[in-house]
Parts: sequence; structure tokens; C-alpha cells
Amino acid sequence: MQNIFDDEQSRFFVKNFSEYPEDLALRVYTSRLLGSNRNLVLHGGGNTSVKTMLPDITGEKRPVLFVKGSGADLKSIGPEGFTGLNLEPLRKLRSLKKLSDEEMDNQLRINKILADAPDPSVETVVHALLPPKYIDHTHADAILVLSNTRNGSALLKEALGPGMEVIPYIMSGFPLALSILAAYEKNPDLEAVVLMHHGLFTFGEDAETAYNRTLEYVTRAERFIMERVGEKPVMSFPEPVPPMYKNPEATLARLAQALRGACAYEADGGKRRFLVEIRNNSQMVGTSCSKGTDALCRTGVLTPDHVIRTKNRMVYIDSVPDKDDDLKIYLDKIIGSYKEDYHNYFITQSEKKDAKRKELDPFPRLILASGLGLIALGYTKTDAVIAADIGEQTIKAKLYANIIGDYLPISDSHLFDMEYWPLQLKKLKKRSIAVLEGQTALVTGAGGAIGFGIAKQLLKAGAAVVLADIDEQRLVNVRSILAEEFDGGRIGIQIFDVTDFGSVQDAFIETSLKFGGLDILVPNAGIAHVATLEDLEPDRFDKVIDVNLKGVFNVIKAAIPVFRRQNTGGNIVVISSKNVFDPGAAFGAYSASKAGAHQLSKIAAMELASIGVKVNMINPDAVFGDNNVSSQLWDLIGPDRMKSRGLDAEGLKEYYRNRNLLKQAVTAEHVGNAVVFFASDQIPTTGASLPVDGGIVAAFPR
Ligand SMILES: [Zn+2]
Repeated sequence: MQNIFDDEQSRFFVKNFSEYPEDLALRVYTSRLLGSNRNLVLHGGGNTSVKTMLPDITGEKRPVLFVKGSGADLKSIGPEGFTGLNLEPLRKLRSLKKLSDEEMDNQLRINKILADAPDPSVETVVHALLPPKYIDHTHADAILVLSNTRNGSALLKEALGPGMEVIPYIMSGFPLALSILAAYEKNPDLEAVVLMHHGLFTFGEDAETAYNRTLEYVTRAERFIMERVGEKPVMSFPEPVPPMYKNPEATLARLAQALRGACAYEADGGKRRFLVEIRNNSQMVGTSCSKGTDALCRTGVLTPDHVIRTKNRMVYIDSVPDKDDDLKIYLDKIIGSYKEDYHNYFITQSEKKDAKRKELDPFPRLILASGLGLIALGYTKTDAVIAADIGEQTIKAKLYANIIGDYLPISDSHLFDMEYWPLQLKKLKKRSIAVLEGQTALVTGAGGAIGFGIAKQLLKAGAAVVLADIDEQRLVNVRSILAEEFDGGRIGIQIFDVTDFGSVQDAFIETSLKFGGLDILVPNAGIAHVATLEDLEPDRFDKVIDVNLKGVFNVIKAAIPVFRRQNTGGNIVVISSKNVFDPGAAFGAYSASKAGAHQLSKIAAMELASIGVKVNMINPDAVFGDNNVSSQLWDLIGPDRMKSRGLDAEGLKEYYRNRNLLKQAVTAEHVGNAVVFFASDQIPTTGASLPVDGGIVAAFPR
């Protein structure tokens, strides 16, 4: 493992954060060094601290502990990511024989030096009681491999040498702090402590020393593992991996859709859906076929920190049935037994400990499918990505541990203490759930003004959104605007032609590989053409019908198998037009194609009700774009309308605004709000039309 401490860089941090104490600036620097190494720290894991002297409000100097605040990530942490605590009152805690977690949490919070600083890490008390100035704590892969192997303690001593103490697993909190402190007081030259099944603590009087020690001990562990593993192939899959499926991507997409369905549930009156992150790189596909991987999936996590991200065990899928009905039966059985096991674990442990806790959801987060790769589930895309990263790391570490000895994780009893630790649960409770969280939407014509407005409102409501269009440049523009406001991980892009059914089907497979499936389909792509019937060229008529009518048919048809496999209902919201009820002369192709799509949507409403999919239509009028995203329809017909009415661009907008009953300009966001209204299942309505036009009497639905 490469030591990347650099004197010049460290001085740069001191200069850059000169308004903070130098000790803290250096703490920021080496924390980032640790955070940037994925073999040391993954996603907010690990924590670091420094002790320094600071004047209080009266100018009197007192010792202060800066420790990573909860929610901060070592990779990107700044000085404000550390919470300052008055050290003296915290040090006094060591005289106590017992300290409840609630009181410990309270003591930490009342001793913050800034009232609105983030809550300090749940491992803070360890940092407070131990004397060394700098403490680095990581869940390094190599340490976890050895500490989760049978005879791990002896292996660690052999691998890491003197200067380090191994402590049997104790949950984070006051007793752990006392235990590490006892080890330290017995040997003040101690450089590091390994807490079995959890991770590494290293100490130093300066930032560089603590960092060097982390690197040194982890490197020793890595070397030891590599020596033991030697030439033995870690992933013992037959070479080359036999192609188990004719079309692995299509099979993965089917599996992801069916899995989302099998793991969907209702809670607190709302839908809970998982989004998916897939890892089908060659290493994961190879690993999925390795000997013994199925048994390893049934073993527990590397470190209890992971349990809230991944649950304790993974699901292993040996083969995906060809027929959808068989796939459903297979998954219902597998997920059903996973849920049952989880429930039994919860009941057994909570009864044994007499703990009154509310059972968390019983669904798996990691599914390893033989020949296909790893599928991770999360309530948000970020959660799914984190679970997938941990999953990849875990599978590899378990394979190494199995070669050295036997993989031996912590007991269910310890695990329960962590999973149902009130301090962890408090973090979960704080989070509010957006109305469309966990749902995936696909919007066609997303490169235009209305598509942009719809995507924006869906993102605001918490959905993951795939922006689809045939025009790549417009799509990239819309995506970059949206990514300024929303997490880019939730925004996908799909370039395809709605008039080509094969291209639509491929796009739906890719959408499923990105997010797992589809809950909300918004057929919105449309083109316009101005000509009287006398002048309308037949091939232009065909073109408009192709996009506006056949395009809607194609996307609805391609979505149906996805909805069926998920078996969790869904919403199709078709962007129709005011013209359907109130057509305009010289606009025949557009009005007829839109009327056709409207009728088709009603048929879809009738046919899809039995699988819980609702189909509704929105009929907007006069939606102009803005400077960022123009309306292609108005780009085309605007100049002609301006000319015939003797108006400029603003005048034309004013004309349409004054034409409606409410005298309101209709925006793309208004249309987006209507989509969110239908998609959020607030009313049991299907086959309905909702005008978003400011009130046009001639276009009242009838
Ligand atoms: Zn830890």
C-alpha cells in the first residue's frame, strides 16, 4: 500500500485552512489521504480525531477534541466536518463504571464547542479517552480479512508484529473505549490496536505518524495475506466462464425487474421500492461462478458497520429461469425464505435481550447471481451504489479469508446489538421520505421544454429519471442543467428512436440495468407539422404519425413486460394535447396523431388495469420553453403564428396567456406537477384526461 504523505501538500493544507488551528488543518490533510484509498475507507466509514488547545470565549485555553462529525466522508472532509468537543468533561467519564449509550450520546452533544456543529461520530468516546494526539480509525480490507478468519487473533499477531494489540470484538461505545484505554495504559508505546471483526486504530503524536502507522500495519497485513494465498487462485471459476445465458444483459434486466417486484412493499401508507445498482464487470461475473461463493453469501458482514447498508447476508441465485412465471415462483421462494430468516433472527435476538425494537424491513440488499454478477438494492440510488461497493469488497475479502483459514464473522448476537443500536436507528429516523423515492421514471422527448419540466418535477418528488430523446445534444444539455440541482446518480440518459421498436426494447433493458426497472412511463416525445390537408405531403403525415402515435404505442408496448415482471402496478402518464379536444386548422397531422395516441391510452387503461397500471393523459396548451431549453413545437410554429397575428415572441406568449380563463401562462413545470400528481397514486383514477391549459372552454374534456 502506497504512502502518499507529502510535506509540501501538508503545508498547503495549513496555509489553505489558516483560520483554523494548524493541528486541525493537518488532521484534515491525512484524513483525506486515508479517505482517498478504497482499501482503507469506503463511503463514510472510518473516523479520525485530533486533540489541541483552544481559547474559550474568555480567552482561557482549554483542551479540545476535534472528531469526525456524523455524515462526513473522510475522502472530502474539511475542517467544518470535524466537531469540536470540550475534552476535560469527557475525560472524566472514565471514572464511571457504566455509561448508557443514551447518556454517552447526551454527554457528547452537551460538550460541543459549537452548538450547531454536526453530532460527533458514534465512536467518539474512544477518541476522547485515549491520550494520543492523533488517532486514525479505518475498516481496512486486509485487517478485516485477517480478523474474520478462524484463529484471526494469532494470525494478526504474526502478521503485524509487536507494537500492536488485538482486542476481542466489543460493540462501539463506552466499554470499547475502556478496553482500548486499558491496552494502551498497559503499553504506552502501543502504536495500533486491532478490534476483531471491526477494524484498526493507530495513534501518533503528529498527523504523519498516525497515518504512517495505518499504512504500515495494513501493508504488513496485505503482505501476509498475499504470502498465504500464494499462487492459489482466489476466484476458482472454470476458465473461460461458460456463457450461462444467451443474452446476459437481457437476463440481468429481467432478474432486476423481478427482484424489485419481489422486494417491494407498502409501509406507512406509501410504496417502498428499491432502486438497483448492478456490477457485471468481469471480476464480479467470474466471482459469481467461483466455487463456494454460494456458501459465502450465507455468511455475515466483514464489520458490523456494514449491516445497516447491506444487511448481514447476501442472496445467491444459481440460475435464472427462462420463463417469467418460473422466475417469479423462484424469487418468491428465495426472498420469502430470506425474509423468514431475518424475522427469526430479529425475534430470537430481541427476546434474548428483552429489547423492545421495531423490526426493520427484512429484505436483502445484495444478490449475487451466478454468471451475471452482483445486484445491489437501496431505497435511493446512492444507497444502492454504497451497498454494491461494500458487496464487491466483501465477496473478495471472504474469498481471501477462506483460503487462509475459514471465514468467521461475528455472531448474530453482536450483530443485532449493532443493527438495532438506538444511536444507529436515530440516524435512520431523521431521514424524510420523498413521495416518489425508490421509483424510476422514463420520459421520452426529454430534450424539449415540456420533457425538461416533467423530469425536473419528478426529480423533485424523489424519483430516479431516465431522460430519453433521439437528439443527443439536447439531452446532454437538459441533463447538465438538472444535474446542477439534483444528484446526478438519479439522472440517466437514453438515446433512442421511439419509432423503432427494437431500439425502444434495448433502451428498456438499459434502463433496467441502470435503475432496476420502471414505475412511471411518460410518453411525451412529439413533433409538429404545419400544413393544410391540401398541402400536407403524405410522407410528412406518416412521419408525424410515426412519432406521435406509433412512438407512444412502442413505448407502452415495451413497458408492459417490465410492469408484469415487477408486478407492483405503475403509472403511464401520456402527454396528450389541448388539440385533441379543440383542434386547429392547418394542424391536421399533429391533431390526428395526438387524438390517436389519446385513444390508444384509453385502451391501455382498460387493458392494464388488471396488473395495477394506471394510464392517464395530460392535455397541455401553449407551453413555451425558456432560454435554457426551448420548445421544439414553438420553435417550429412560433414564427408563423407571430407573423399571422402581427406579434413578437413576448407578444405571442401574452396572447396565449390572455386566451385562457385564468389568464395564466402555462409552464412546463405545471405539466410536470400534473405528472407527479398521477404518478403519486393519490387518486384511484385511470383513463382520465387532465387539462393543463389555464382553462380553455373549447378544450374541456367530454
Ligand atoms: Zn469503526
